[in-house]
Amino acid sequence: MNVYDSARMADVLAPLGYRPVEAPEGADMVILNTCHIREKASEKVFSELGRLRLEKNRQAADEAGRRMIIAVAGCVAQAEGEEIMARAPFVDMVFGPQTYHQLPEMVARASRAAGERVLNTDFPVESKFDFLPGESADAGVSAFLSVQEGCDKFCTFCVVPYTRGAEFSRPAAQILAEARRMAASGTREITLLGQNVNAYHGDGPAGGTWGLGRLIREVAAIDGVERIRYTTSHPRDMEDDLIAAHGEVPQLMPFVHLPVQSGSDRILAAMNRKHTADDYRRLIDRMRAARPDLALSSDFIVGFPGERDADFAETLRLVTDIGYAQAYSFKYSARPGTPAAGLDDAQVPEPVKNERLAALQQLLNAQQVAFNQACVGRVLPVLLDRSGKRPGQLMGRSPFMQSVPVTAPQRLAGTVVDVLISAAHANSLAGEPVLADGVTVSGPAAPAPPVDFSNPPAWEATA
Ligand code: SAH
Ligand code: SF4
Repeated sequence: MNVYDSARMADVLAPLGYRPVEAPEGADMVILNTCHIREKASEKVFSELGRLRLEKNRQAADEAGRRMIIAVAGCVAQAEGEEIMARAPFVDMVFGPQTYHQLPEMVARASRAAGERVLNTDFPVESKFDFLPGESADAGVSAFLSVQEGCDKFCTFCVVPYTRGAEFSRPAAQILAEARRMAASGTREITLLGQNVNAYHGDGPAGGTWGLGRLIREVAAIDGVERIRYTTSHPRDMEDDLIAAHGEVPQLMPFVHLPVQSGSDRILAAMNRKHTADDYRRLIDRMRAARPDLALSSDFIVGFPGERDADFAETLRLVTDIGYAQAYSFKYSARPGTPAAGLDDAQVPEPVKNERLAALQQLLNAQQVAFNQACVGRVLPVLLDRSGKRPGQLMGRSPFMQSVPVTAPQRLAGTVVDVLISAAHANSLAGEPVLADGVTVSGPAAPAPPVDFSNPPAWEATA
């Protein structure tokens, strides 16, 4: 979502004469768009600010005495705005994630010769989406589109409800208009974004409320949209219509990120996730019934306060039962102001967290390797969405989000080609475009044959 927000900030700033550059050296303004989700992410902000201060000091001031504007945006700005203003006097602007449509006014204040400092962590009553300009002409072959923001779920470990605010869904007409503009400018894959994207319940164009399933069907009807994804979803909001869409909408990719966090019912309850591990297993069964080749990804937290060895064993068991194509796992980090951070006696010692993280990642990596291996010998539709590292190479993505570098002429950039997969690596696949009667170009991706999870997968041996 920060990638999307950054692109929209660039759109807002373009009429003021700003354009994105590759490096801070010589820039007129640097905006750090920050994440507060884990301690590590927010620590990075202060070390990065230290580096930017050196660059600012190196720059000669212009005739009006101005130098590079340094801004901190996003959720660290929202949560720690005052602290940043106090600790880093060289920072000119600090603004939260719901205020960036007000950038022109903030920049005007900060660029006065007097150098006014701006702190803006309001939750404005108006929605920023009503005030953003049309996005730049080249959103990219694969692009994000925010449809929902904020969260009302209050998992006990999480800062999102405090930094991003309450759940909000954009009206469907606004989203469809943005999707049409993106498709017209060459975007072929749209990833619908939200902190809780499947809690989407936006106003329909003709009254009533649309869920995510309905929205996906309508985006799929837009000319030029060949692939649709959505992230991040919550197990409790996986409605029947969305599950059905997986079996019915060919553009909807068979890869879903559905975080479970833990396999222990005791810990899930303490996290306030409001579902059990078996609820999640049954949900995955229903999703796989709708789309047999569905691949899954998840987030896991190890060392949540009070997590015992037996709880962690339940997490490993759940991972073994589901079989993930890919996953993210994190050590629990106490976030200021969240209920779990106050559970002082129950905090899990760091060495235990480290051990559990290593064990979980070993299992998840083995599953990822097995999943990638199972792709070898298959023909997968690959969307060539960016240029490759080497000349004559294009980078693409499989339906399952694996990176696939392909030797192909530049004219195929932005199209879907069938690729015969010849080798699998930890994070990518290798292969050659299929040359039947020339290279297969474009068209909605056909469903790929299912990976057989019932055949004893390699990871069971390692579990
Ligand atoms: N809305 C999504 C998650 C968004 S946060 C959901 O409900 O699943 C992204 C991920 O960061 C979470 O899934 C969780 O695994 C991780 N995370 C959030 N807070 C954390 C914390 N305090 N410590 C460690 N990991 C955390
Ligand atoms: Fe955070 Fe996701 Fe829970 Fe909301 S549902 S509180 S974003 S982890």
